[in-house]
Amino acid sequence: TTSTAWSPQSWRRKPVVQDVVYPTPAPLADGAEQPDPVSYKRKQALDDVVSKLEKLPPIVSPTEIERLKAKLADVAQGRAFLLQGGDCAESFDYCTSEKIEHRLSLLLSMSLILIWGMKLPVVRIARMGGQYAKPRSKQTEIVDGREIMSFRGDNVNGIDPSDRLPDPERLLSAYFHSAATVNHVRSLLASGFASLPSGSGQVPWSLPLAHVRSEELLKSYESIVQQLSSALEFMEVIGVERGNSGASGAALESADIFMSHEALMLEYESALTRELAVPAFAAKRACEKGFYCTSAHFVWIGDRTRALDGAHVEFFRGLRNPVGIKVGPTMEADELVRLLGIVDPNKEPGRVTLISRYGADKVDEKLPAHIKAVQASGHQVVFAADPMHGNTKTSSAHPGVKTRHMHDIVYEISANMRIHAQMGSRLGGVHLELTGDVTKDGESVTECLGGSMQLEEEHLGLRFESFCDPRLNFEQSLDIAFMLSQAASK
Ligand code: PEP
Ligand code: MN
Repeated sequence: TTSTAWSPQSWRRKPVVQDVVYPTPAPLADGAEQPDPVSYKRKQALDDVVSKLEKLPPIVSPTEIERLKAKLADVAQGRAFLLQGGDCAESFDYCTSEKIEHRLSLLLSMSLILIWGMKLPVVRIARMGGQYAKPRSKQTEIVDGREIMSFRGDNVNGIDPSDRLPDPERLLSAYFHSAATVNHVRSLLASGFASLPSGSGQVPWSLPLAHVRSEELLKSYESIVQQLSSALEFMEVIGVERGNSGASGAALESADIFMSHEALMLEYESALTRELAVPAFAAKRACEKGFYCTSAHFVWIGDRTRALDGAHVEFFRGLRNPVGIKVGPTMEADELVRLLGIVDPNKEPGRVTLISRYGADKVDEKLPAHIKAVQASGHQVVFAADPMHGNTKTSSAHPGVKTRHMHDIVYEISANMRIHAQMGSRLGGVHLELTGDVTKDGESVTECLGGSMQLEEEHLGLRFESFCDPRLNFEQSLDIAFMLSQAASK
């Protein structure tokens, strides 16, 4: 029936939460012949932008998307671990070789530590190359006594208070920045950027650890780095072949980094959704075709836009991509199972990654019921922990500044590991907001509190550069990798 038929545009029949309302033409004044020229042009622009986007080539391919889906099936079945991370709000200005390389390097360093500790391949997904749109709890804010629209991401409006009017042409700009970012990532990967240090003359491998304040912590980090480096040296000596697909070879050598973002702007996402041939290795029958959202390998639904009867869930249910669903503390267990029934009717392993973000104070209460309901449902999901979004606090020293404490972040991850283990389930991965960016003086950002460099409230004012939520810096991100690695090798 028509009401259940899916198409890339069927979401338009459903309520769109967090919708962006573009300025519409002002009503004609009595006797006026022309609509207001400025807003009239803008109104036209959304349709124009969408038809332009529909003609532009896909940013990622079905082969890459299906390869990620197969890897996430491995994660769902306990044969790999997922590391997903990046900025809360990616800016068009992050599209520089330096910033892209910082981001990839951090994910790669973390994944090496994780592979070593977990003895498992790590699937790396960057929040990058399209993470340009933000849902907001408050749609407006007061700046200098004036109420203006909140910053909704570079996809929509500008961070500058004078640039908050939504402009549809930004969606076109998003496409080109995304394509340029993905292009640079592909060229780096094809040139060996992500290959083993042993293949690139970087052995003995090391990591900067000078920031670690506690003697005891420093010792344990140094010991991990030392052991990892010896392992890499050993492999270099015995000549583990590059590109080898044997077990450890594949785990360490894999040069894959996939791209992801929250698919919030459905006009954009549906314009880039194409019916394409399913690659032979993933197809169930000859000449199979499927709908791929080609703006990224992996897209997710936010905690605010996951309503069962909403536009975002409708859009996601028809895609072949592996997809994420944020799961906050207000999700009911039976609602979660109904949602999985809509988005993953065929119970495909790895099709859905549940990215839970309850908060350190709620994880013990909420997670067990969700695990139990999923286990009973037969869906083979990836359980990923986002220890960031339930732990956002306002700084006491800097009113209005959002921060997160490493204590809470570490607690939520540990609670996830403990509860999954108790229930015969498994934490499949983590979803983090982080940045390898440094300021002009080579200093890391100071947005989250604590960690081995012991950042305190007074440091928040120093280098808070996020356009949205506070991110882990380079050192704090390594702390999490070390912590996960140590917990797994115990
Ligand atoms: C985010 O990931 O930046 C975000 C807005 O998360 P959530 O939907 O979980 O609140
Ligand atoms: Mn965020």
